[in-house]
Amino acid sequence: MIEIHQIPVLSDNYVYLIRDQRSGSVGVVDPAVAEPVMEAAGRLGWKITHILNTHHHGDHVGGNRKIKAATGCVIVGPRADAGRIPGIDVQVGDGDFYDFGGARATVYDVPGHTRGHIAFWFAESTALFCGDTLFALGCGRMFEGNPDQFWTSLCKLRDLPDETRVFCAHEYTQANARFALSVDGDNAALVERSNRIDAARAENKPTVPSLLGEEKATNPFLRVDDASLAANVGLAGHDPVAVFAEVRARKDNF
Ligand code: ZN
Ligand code: FE
Repeated sequence: MIEIHQIPVLSDNYVYLIRDQRSGSVGVVDPAVAEPVMEAAGRLGWKITHILNTHHHGDHVGGNRKIKAATGCVIVGPRADAGRIPGIDVQVGDGDFYDFGGARATVYDVPGHTRGHIAFWFAESTALFCGDTLFALGCGRMFEGNPDQFWTSLCKLRDLPDETRVFCAHEYTQANARFALSVDGDNAALVERSNRIDAARAENKPTVPSLLGEEKATNPFLRVDDASLAANVGLAGHDPVAVFAEVRARKDNF
């Protein structure tokens, strides 16, 4: 099992420190910056041994070189994007198992936000680190992929168990909820969740992690094959890829 410590950095990023309880290995998932992460590890008495990167964006790899220089840690990242991951040592891709200390992660290629994006699923710990692919009530912007790829990626994650905790990389949930209501406002579970999110944010509480089961029921980007959502965006009876493209475009302009 892994212990997880969540660190808010920059305006809305989350960096995660993960510790394998058997081996004592400590990983950093997507270090946007170095200092706050190393300080947090120091306070916990955790010695960083690994960095796990989901994709190449600066707010996910910005701390790589400094942390590696200070700790000698091993950097694990996407094979499909190895050239854009600073300091990468170990390349992983779809279906690989990565043994982090004693904890096993399954790796998924989830292109769409970027062409080389990956996700790490720790089945035993019910934890998914999905970077900017899946957010609480949203998904990442489609910078380098197409709707078909992105929908395929989201389906891989949607297939994981409901009890999976979704550790995404940004606190975007409240804005995502407003958009979600615009395309799925008659979804009672979404309305109820949106109210809970407003209450949490009013107290400055994080809304991440969320549970995948709740995302399946309320995240519009995981519901583009739902008949009522398709109808709400004027695409009743259309292919989920077409509905995904429409919902993603609407979010870009919301
Ligand atoms: Zn990104
Ligand atoms: Fe990001």
